[in-house]
Amino acid sequence: MDTQIELSPLIRRFGVLVVDDSAVQRHSAVELLRGMGVEQLYEAADGHDALKLLRMLQPTPAVILLDLEMPGMDGIETAQQLVQEENCPSLLIASSAEPSILNAVAGMAEALGLPLLGTLRKPLTQQTLSLALAHFESTHVKGVAATPPPQVAVPALAEALQQRQIIPYYQPKIRMADGEVAGLEALARWRQPDGKLVPPVSFIEVAEKNGLIDELTLTILDQVLHDLVRWHALGFNPTVAINVSAPSLSDRGFGNAIIERTAAANIPPSAIVLEITESALVGDLAAALGTLGRLRLKGFGLSIDDYGTGFSSMQQLSRLPFSELKLDGSFVRHSPDKWQLRTILEAAVSMGQRLGLATVAEGVETQKELALLYSLGCEYAQGYLIAAPMPAAELPAWAGRERERLQGICRLAAASRGG
Ligand code: C2E
Ligand code: CA
Ligand code: CA
Repeated sequence: MDTQIELSPLIRRFGVLVVDDSAVQRHSAVELLRGMGVEQLYEAADGHDALKLLRMLQPTPAVILLDLEMPGMDGIETAQQLVQEENCPSLLIASSAEPSILNAVAGMAEALGLPLLGTLRKPLTQQTLSLALAHFESTHVKGVAATPPPQVAVPALAEALQQRQIIPYYQPKIRMADGEVAGLEALARWRQPDGKLVPPVSFIEVAEKNGLIDELTLTILDQVLHDLVRWHALGFNPTVAINVSAPSLSDRGFGNAIIERTAAANIPPSAIVLEITESALVGDLAAALGTLGRLRLKGFGLSIDDYGTGFSSMQQLSRLPFSELKLDGSFVRHSPDKWQLRTILEAAVSMGQRLGLATVAEGVETQKELALLYSLGCEYAQGYLIAAPMPAAELPAWAGRERERLQGICRLAAASRGG
């Protein structure tokens, strides 16, 4: 009897996860969705169960229908946690709360960069539900229904490490003041014997969960040190950033290994920046602080990676021995058109400055984004606009070829300041 709106085939196929503490309401939502042709339906009674289920489900459901008021982990906290999930469904919030509260939550979800379909006042009807779901195609920006990247097998990865098939690609970052290359980030790639390149999303987590991540990071470090020795001889003195996983930080041997190998290669520690994701700092902070403090004392740079996706407060950050703040690409992307993202960027840059940290924006893809970052006072930029990650051997030619273009885009960013 309702006017039937065509449901996206992605929702039909990949399904919906309904999160509500009331069994009755959950049931009624499931029945409505089934009636609309959704084939896969999953249920959870609170945020914890929902997140657990999400990590298990393959493929990830297309949509999560999330109740706000729940005992245990409520809907707001669940939404905040969703940001960290690798596979995040599009979000549809349902609640009997007042519209002003729904609006506030919607604002938060958007500011966090979540793919928000909308908010619905309970009770749900087929009409309101199908109207909200009709927005699906335009919102699922986080690559929902795209199947998760294939994960490699543990023995194969262990072997690849031994055979030195895990190599660094380098992505340059430039100083916005003059467009000069100020540093590089080493990003792991698995180059297989047939030449195929496997991206880190397929093996970093496997390494972390199976005790291989220290070895992986140290393999990357060794190659970075080797490349730095060659580059120094040529008069090219970039800093190189290396990504360090959370579990490595609670291991004292790991910190020592970094210090010893760098010294053995005769490279000053200040040439190496260790990037640690913001979310890594929520774990065993005491152990991490010991390792980080020692590395910083020795002169290594320390960068907070993916800043903005975790929940560290200014007070927490001020106690940590960091030297650099790396703004997450999800805030940079589309920031020129979204005031919520711009507000977060602005706050993050000014906080970094007040704490005396170098500010780096990652994931810069457009001139507009570069101009905005420049106007906010961000110092360094990294992203496809500058260059994609490349093998060490390609760097010198790239630098020679691109120098003028990079100076040009920085001049242009400075000229469009404020506009
Ligand atoms: P990350 O540290 O946040 O690195 C940035 C990622 O964004 C890289 O992906 C990079 O290639 C990509 N990227 C760079 N510029 C742009 C851009 O303009 N637009 C977009 N959309 N993406 C851009 P990649 O190389 O696939 O690495 C993914 C993640 O894997 C890294 O994220 C890092 O967390 C992890 N990773 C990479 N290498 C290592 C490693 O040696 N050790 C550890 N522990 N993690 C690593
Ligand atoms: Ca990084
Ligand atoms: Ca990042």
